[in-house]
Amino acid sequence: MTQECESLAKCGFFKKYQTTKDLACKGFILQYCSGPKMNDCARKKYRQEHGTPPSDDMMPSGQMIVV
Ligand code: SF4
Repeated sequence: MTQECESLAKCGFFKKYQTTKDLACKGFILQYCSGPKMNDCARKKYRQEHGTPPSDDMMPSGQMIVV
């Protein structure tokens, strides 16, 4: 059974990085967006606390992607 985060379609991080070749990002997507840690996602917590989504560059771990 494939599970995925209910926010996938509107998540800025996922939209921006779903096709990335970056292994760390891919790992987060596998672990969080379509994996067992989706309820631990820092982006979800941020949105719940602030009422607005975080920067697209905030990873599910809460760290920012610096390019
Ligand atoms: S980053 Fe978080 S909110 Fe966005 S799709 Fe992945 S698990 Fe869901």
